[in-house]
Amino acid sequence: MAQRGTPARRSKEDAAQYLQRLERVHLAHELIERGARQLLVYWATQLPADRLVGLYRLKMNSNAALFPCGSIPRLQTVLRDPYRHAQASVFAGVLLHEQGAMSDQSLSPQMLIRVFDLYRRLDPDPIGITECFFIARDLRTGALAMRWCEHCEVGYLVNAQSLRSALNRCPVCAIARLQVRVGEMSARNPARGNEWV
Ligand SMILES: [Zn+2]
Repeated sequence: MAQRGTPARRSKEDAAQYLQRLERVHLAHELIERGARQLLVYWATQLPADRLVGLYRLKMNSNAALFPCGSIPRLQTVLRDPYRHAQASVFAGVLLHEQGAMSDQSLSPQMLIRVFDLYRRLDPDPIGITECFFIARDLRTGALAMRWCEHCEVGYLVNAQSLRSALNRCPVCAIARLQVRVGEMSARNPARGNEWV
């Protein structure tokens, strides 16, 4: 039967594997803490599903807790809502800035966490980290791109595969137009003004 190195070497390998496992568990905790869905934690750690559920329950201090579920908003849905579109664009702007500053276009779990933490300092009600992961992935694959608005000079996300789409409008200008409309409605009917705010 083949021997797997000397005892000293084996114990060095065991220690390295143990450290790797610890790092993956730590990463899983970091992502769970930020509200990540199970698929994102799996992508980052490659830990088996039952282990992830166990870590989630430990973190939530509940034997019955389950990862957040439900569908993750699709790109078209995000771009259709100017508020979410603006939030997604802020995240994308921070990501591209950080990747440019570090000359690193890769998307590691550590980079995702770092950029998400920077982004949520700017947004008091941030979009989810799993959504941010898909935005980062789509920027990498070229499905999404950034465009500058000539009117308000703000960068915003566009669907790069359909640049002529009506959905590719600047969300900041769209929000400004909505605010004007709300103001006009309030002026026409002051009694109902508060309903639109
Ligand atoms: Zn604009």
